[in-house]
Amino acid sequence: NLQILLKSRPEGRPGPEHFELVQSPIPEPRHGEVLVRHRFLSLDPYMRGRMSDAVSYAPPVPLGGVMEGECVGEVVQSQHPNFAPGDWVSGARGWQGWSAAHGSTLVKLPAGSGVSPSAYLGVLGMPGRTAWIGVTEVLRPKPGETFVVAAASGAVGAVAGQVARRMGARVVGIAGGAEKCRYVTEELGFDACLDHREGLEAALDAACPNGIDCYFENVGGSVQKSVFPRMREFGRIAFCGMVAEYNQSPPPPGPNLMALVRKRLTLQGFLVNDHPRAGQEWMRNGAVLLREGKLQFREDVAQGLENAPAAFVGLLEGRNFGKLVVAI
Ligand code: NDP
Repeated sequence: NLQILLKSRPEGRPGPEHFELVQSPIPEPRHGEVLVRHRFLSLDPYMRGRMSDAVSYAPPVPLGGVMEGECVGEVVQSQHPNFAPGDWVSGARGWQGWSAAHGSTLVKLPAGSGVSPSAYLGVLGMPGRTAWIGVTEVLRPKPGETFVVAAASGAVGAVAGQVARRMGARVVGIAGGAEKCRYVTEELGFDACLDHREGLEAALDAACPNGIDCYFENVGGSVQKSVFPRMREFGRIAFCGMVAEYNQSPPPPGPNLMALVRKRLTLQGFLVNDHPRAGQEWMRNGAVLLREGKLQFREDVAQGLENAPAAFVGLLEGRNFGKLVVAI
């Protein structure tokens, strides 16, 4: 049973030196377990995170442990009533040729579905599901909206764009190179696909003349920088991942937006002017709280209109203490 272990934790780009290949005996299934011969292993960007011991949403693979990963395979022996030899299953069984897994950790693949078992690791598996959730629950594109998706030819991006198109959006993919871009438009049916290696900013301006309503973020880095200023008012961004940054050590300067993904944060801009009714409401409610001593405030009063410019400059430098007003 060939197993691939994590040998050391990479700084920056992982290489073969961070893995160790070992042979071990094929395990014997115990009561409740199923012996699976793995036929396909999924490789996914998240595995870079599992190689690192930085804080994340999931614990790292321990040094010397089998690398984590989803597999599909065939049941060879079963000590579990729900599985029989010849069944196809999927599960998080790791980078190895065989495993004995408790039946409760395996999902039986539908027989005779006509699709390759490997599809349950991609389009019908975790990446496809990710795309489906990001589009239908986070971005919710409306007919006619412009929807941009990064890494458009990849496992997640390809599904995201196709789902958005079925919902009536105009879908623009971003991918690396002419061949991927051709595939995205001709075979996936996106309305356009732009090569991030060649003049992405100008290409975005041409493909999205009215700006971008929805952005499905898979990449980060320079692609993100080009997309952000082209977002429309009331646009939505689904932060799915930022694969371009996973190998960067030290991480790029600025806030690490992967926290949005790890902690499922919501980031929402707003303008007070969009809420005219709240003004009247707050004037009434706030006044009650003030009268009852339940709301405190402090004013910093500059004397004389002629002192307004100096007071204003001070405001931007933190010299005011409390609400700055000018007594005229
Ligand atoms: P892909 O099949 O899309 O493979 C990764 C692709 O990313 C590459 O083919 C490449 O496409 C692009 N890429 C890699 N490095 C760079 C770079 N430096 N600059 C620009 N593009 C780059 O992977 P997946 O579809 O599996 O994953 C896509 C994203 O979704 C990842 O960020 C992943 O972490 C995230 N993800 C998040 C999940 C969640 O639950 N939040 C679940 C699953 C995935 P190209 O050549 O076109 O640039």
